[in-house]
Amino acid sequence: MHPTLQQDLTRFPLILDHTRRLAETFLAGLNERPVCPPAAAQQLRPGDDRLSAEGVGAQAALDHFWQHYADGLSASAGPRYFGFVTGGATPASLAGDWLVSVFDQNSLLSHDTIAAAIELATIEQLKSLLGLPAAFSGSLVSGATMANFCGLAIGRQWLGAQRGVNVAQQGVAALGMVHVLAACPHSSSEKALGMLGIGRDALTPIATLPDSEAIDPDALERHLAAHPATPTIVLASAGTVNTTAFDNISRLLALRERYGFWLHVDAAFGGVAACSPACAPLLEGWQQADSITVDAHKWLNVPYDSAIQFTRHLALQMQVFQNVSAYMEAPALRPDHYLHLTPENSRRFRALPLWMALKAYGRDGIRDMVERNILLAKQLGDGLTASEGFYLLAPVNLNVVCFALTDITDDAEAERDNFLARLDRHGIIRCTATYYQGQPAIRAALVNWMTEESDIALALDSLRVCRFTAN
Ligand SMILES: *Cc1c(COP(=O)(O)O)cnc(C)c1O
Repeated sequence: MHPTLQQDLTRFPLILDHTRRLAETFLAGLNERPVCPPAAAQQLRPGDDRLSAEGVGAQAALDHFWQHYADGLSASAGPRYFGFVTGGATPASLAGDWLVSVFDQNSLLSHDTIAAAIELATIEQLKSLLGLPAAFSGSLVSGATMANFCGLAIGRQWLGAQRGVNVAQQGVAALGMVHVLAACPHSSSEKALGMLGIGRDALTPIATLPDSEAIDPDALERHLAAHPATPTIVLASAGTVNTTAFDNISRLLALRERYGFWLHVDAAFGGVAACSPACAPLLEGWQQADSITVDAHKWLNVPYDSAIQFTRHLALQMQVFQNVSAYMEAPALRPDHYLHLTPENSRRFRALPLWMALKAYGRDGIRDMVERNILLAKQLGDGLTASEGFYLLAPVNLNVVCFALTDITDDAEAERDNFLARLDRHGIIRCTATYYQGQPAIRAALVNWMTEESDIALALDSLRVCRFTAN
């Protein structure tokens, strides 16, 4: 063994202890850490982009990273990071995530670890939390982008099966042109269409309802009626990132009866709202979808990278993702043969952090986290409405506040960007830019388990201060 590796092996307990202390320091300082570190802090030191011949050992590497780069880390895991849709990590999920690396299991299907059984149990508990029926199977993937990829891939296979084509075998050309119909799809689905060979051009925008990001079912029906022979996927949103709009899934199901299409529901964060009885009606009908995407690293507050793809079409999924080889177990139609159900071959024990979170906090703990975020988002929205200089672009009906600046004199986009830059420099909250109905807008998404009323007060103070100061 190389002497440095030998030394690290001997010192393993000390290295773990040192790591724990750094983690503790980071977490203890999370509230004071800037949500957006200065650009200079995000730069590498000269020399650190090159591999050296002599390693320094684990502890020195840790110290080097900590001393030089800890200031470049964002407080994105903290209670006032409202940019994008950014969850934190609960203690239980964090503990699980650490141990995933310690255990270093390959969670594909083999019969020498309990990892796949835990994954199956995690999926079952999540179905129970979200009110999804037994007909769904699911697996853990790295994020909602991959979950959308899987759902669309299985949909592609189903479209082929309707026409006597095995797309996974014969290629997507054998299927021909596909229409993917959506009103406000997340960009990750477009990316997935690019990866799947269906093509980004297959995405056909359908009109929304007035003053909404939700799909207009009548407009959708007109398109379906005009193209009865085209293989079609309907890509429904259950929570758009701008305004948390939910497509009316029950109406989509009625159209599916008539026209026959694959219904994929992107519920990356909105799906988690199903654990709250007050919100569950927003998702009415998703129990009948063909495939569903839910992120765990957003509203379930599991560390990156964690999401779930659900489907009711296990056999088709296995046709797409099977991995047949002399040295591996042959695919059997089982929901835990993850090797044959997901894009990856070797996979980390990704289910453990979510399993830990569900075990530690249960139905009520998760529900409380979700309902508190919704309540606080409404408070933030009310506070902005009551403050000079801001107005809401949409009512706050879940956990995202979408707003804009009033009294714009000149260039709305530049004013918004300057405002967001001041907010970043102030460092108290992070919001991110978007466009809503063609207009430059700002989003604040509340998905962190630690956010409290005092954070909303701090957030409103920072927003007001930054609104009327010069750059
Ligand atoms: C965040 C998000 C995605 C992409 O998720 P990743 O986990 O970042 O891959 C897809 N759809 C929706 C609605 C999202 O909010």
